[in-house]
Amino acid sequence: MAVVIAAILKKRQPDDLGRGEYGASRGSRIHRGIDYACTPETEILSPVAGKVTKLGYPYSDDLSFRYVEVTDLFGFAHRLFYCLPCVGVGDDVARSTVVGVAQDIAKRYDTELKKMNNHIHYEVIKYTSNGKVYYDPENYRSGDA
Ligand SMILES: [Zn+2]
Repeated sequence: MAVVIAAILKKRQPDDLGRGEYGASRGSRIHRGIDYACTPETEILSPVAGKVTKLGYPYSDDLSFRYVEVTDLFGFAHRLFYCLPCVGVGDDVARSTVVGVAQDIAKRYDTELKKMNNHIHYEVIKYTSNGKVYYDPENYRSGDA
């Protein structure tokens, strides 16, 4: 199975650790991305055309989890979290190019008291002279965000 990360996907169902919407509460912080329900091992397709600009690590204490960043032609960085990359930094990708495989993020948070539903976290960032600006991925359109 393969999915393009896009607004038509179902959001992560609310679970013990929160909700998947942009702006959802995360304790003292705010969720600055959208979580889309996704089964581990699903192939993840880029939501945009662009270039792979980073293969990152969401957690400094567990380097098995990864994210893929694709920067589009307008300079917006699209980050797909909990995605084991199959591309390299500098690769050009088209929309719907496979960029990786969904990881089992639920496993990290699986305790007796709390469970998390598997998902891909998608965030859209523009780097400015004042730092990072986050956009709601559902309001984003290439070129007019
Ligand atoms: Zn998230």
